[in-house]
Amino acid sequence: MSRKTYRPATLAIRSGHERSQFGEHSEPIFATSSFVFDSAEQAKARFSYEEPGNVYSRFTNPTLSVFQDRLAALEGGESCIGTASGMSAMLAVCMAGLSAGDHIVSSHSIFGASKVLLNSLLTSFGVEVTFVELTNLEEWSEALKSNTRMVFFETPTNPLMEVGDISAISTIAHDHNPDIRVVVDNCFCTPILQQPLKLGADVVLHSATKFIDGQGRCVGGAIVGDSEFVGEKVLGFMRTAGPSMSPFNAWVFAKGLETLSLRVNHACASALQLAEFLDGHKGIRQVNYPGLDSHPQRELVQQQQSKGGAVVSFEVEGGRDRAFSIINDTELISITANLGDSKTTITHPYTTTHARWSDHDKQAVGIGEGLIRIAVGLEDPLDIIEDLKL
Ligand SMILES: *Cc1c(COP(=O)(O)O)cnc(C)c1O
Repeated sequence: MSRKTYRPATLAIRSGHERSQFGEHSEPIFATSSFVFDSAEQAKARFSYEEPGNVYSRFTNPTLSVFQDRLAALEGGESCIGTASGMSAMLAVCMAGLSAGDHIVSSHSIFGASKVLLNSLLTSFGVEVTFVELTNLEEWSEALKSNTRMVFFETPTNPLMEVGDISAISTIAHDHNPDIRVVVDNCFCTPILQQPLKLGADVVLHSATKFIDGQGRCVGGAIVGDSEFVGEKVLGFMRTAGPSMSPFNAWVFAKGLETLSLRVNHACASALQLAEFLDGHKGIRQVNYPGLDSHPQRELVQQQQSKGGAVVSFEVEGGRDRAFSIINDTELISITANLGDSKTTITHPYTTTHARWSDHDKQAVGIGEGLIRIAVGLEDPLDIIEDLKL
């Protein structure tokens, strides 16, 4: 199917699948570890990439290709590689793009495991890391060095929903050195709300576990970018090291992409309704949601994201006791730290997702004991609001 003739919403449903001789309508799951060749000559050509085609499911598989083509089309990237988890996508980008002696600049406010990967795993292999405030452009600029090879951040941040300026950070990095790779974790927005590659970033990372699956079934990840880095270097890392996505999970994610736009837009509308209900409600100090007019970076949000996303956080008066009692009084909403599920989830960041941060660090960024995070799902928004019993 020619990519040029269709728009992303169509490609999300139609691309990547080449019908087999059976004429199946839905994408099949190719549960096979290896592929058979017509001749020794063809095997040689496939192994050396002279001839396109599958060799071994550690690095290519037709079901995986369906998922990869669709996500590449949605993000506007040349190449996509699916991985076993969001964290292995991050690992693959670092292993394919960095060597000992290189330097990374990263935002402070990133997913917990991403932070550990950068500041303990990578540093033990001789990679240097500097953490900066996402919203402070001067800090980004000052942190760049002659050996900086990668810049990394997520936007909006979890759980405070601060927004990083993708275009400005990419320009600062590329003006310093065009070879610096700007890597954005686009898990919270998905390509439906925000396309970092179009704003100047070089690589997009995903935890497919979240909105791409959308029903909390499988763990997976993906990397999208240019064909030289993602299509060759990252693929080379996958071929050698193999944190691969299984054909079954690839099938779940490929089918997830078909409905991603409907689900994300619906969850955004419900999240906005919830945020508007909470904003100014008695006993609530602050609501953090990029879709509210009261968001401190509202102008940037409107330039960069088409909607506010599905995650809302808010600070209640009465600290931990009040936050715990609101969480414990829910009957419908699930008490779990996952997000991007059709089922709405509620969590207390201070004691769960951010429990490993020091009290000082949490207070410094504004993660208080009264903070609650809700990742809005697809239930009726009024049932979600009523379940909070505020
Ligand atoms: C969940 C998550 C990850 C890690 O993904 P896994 O699939 O759990 O490995 C990375 N970044 C963000 C923003 C996440 O929410």
